[in-house]
Amino acid sequence: MNEPSPLPVLDVHTHLAGIGQGNSGCFIAPKKFDSLLYKLMRKKMGIYDAHKQGVLDEAYRARLEKDVATAAEHGALHAAVVFAHERIYTDAGEIAPTGQEMYVPNEHLFDSCERARGRFVPAMSVHPYRKDALDECHKWIERGAGALKWLPNSQGMDPRDKRCAPVFDLLAAKKVPLIAHTGGEHTVSIIKPELGDPEVLRPALDRGVTVIMAHCGTASGIFDTHWMPDFCKLARAYPNCYGDNSAFTTPGRARWSARILREEGVVEKLVHGSDYPVPPNAWWSFFSLGWSRTREIQRIWSFLERDVRIKQSLGFPEVVFTNAARLLAPGSLEKWGIRGSSR
Ligand SMILES: [Zn+2]
Repeated sequence: MNEPSPLPVLDVHTHLAGIGQGNSGCFIAPKKFDSLLYKLMRKKMGIYDAHKQGVLDEAYRARLEKDVATAAEHGALHAAVVFAHERIYTDAGEIAPTGQEMYVPNEHLFDSCERARGRFVPAMSVHPYRKDALDECHKWIERGAGALKWLPNSQGMDPRDKRCAPVFDLLAAKKVPLIAHTGGEHTVSIIKPELGDPEVLRPALDRGVTVIMAHCGTASGIFDTHWMPDFCKLARAYPNCYGDNSAFTTPGRARWSARILREEGVVEKLVHGSDYPVPPNAWWSFFSLGWSRTREIQRIWSFLERDVRIKQSLGFPEVVFTNAARLLAPGSLEKWGIRGSSR
């Protein structure tokens, strides 16, 4: 029998979003906001028309908080790591004049976390090509950032660029993990596909940063490169290399759960994450879960709770659900009022 775990169960991968209503400072490009995928997510979240009342940003934040609260009531998890979303910067270190699709300022993220104390932990997003990158990272770490979030292939930072080194040294010194997207991406556009390769994160690993490779380098669409073997190689070679299983309950990635669970020496390096607001769907794992379990799980209202239940049923071990609590910046959970319970 395992001892009851005192560590909180966290979802390490959830997105905040908005269009700037209520002075949030957020931005979603209209062509994205009106796309079929975004309309589907808005509908599933029950906020389809919230923008018409001018309350989209708050409706989104409140829905995410309720997803966490409901999952917590049912004993599925305790809290979620919530992401800011940095803008694209040019190689010259300027905000890219075109191509911006999404922006969630750190200010709005931290404000949202203040309002959802005990439920949210902030992951700041700061582009390393910004001239004030180090100061910004310092500032948000001081304010309790649990992690730094990057999407190299969509935001344009190359972790091998020399401007990243001082950021890595700061993260390593403060024990703040880097959550970096790896593999294909279809929710925002990719500008540099080659930066989805887990290998590009080696300089961060070499400088002692704890790196959580989001999606473990897996392919999502049929034309994506599949870098999961490269992720597994790094996870085995570096004690500070981890991967999250976010979006493994969606059509593009459901096929990878069974595969990664067979990877010895890698399974214990996995970190649970959902990729909220992408709706998790048990039907993609029907052959593993069976008819009655699939239907039972699919009826769960909270996306976050449903995602936990699918992954527990597929056999992801307990350590996967508690790893985040050990990896986030020291003191960040206490700072945001998050505690585990003997389950
Ligand atoms: Zn994501």
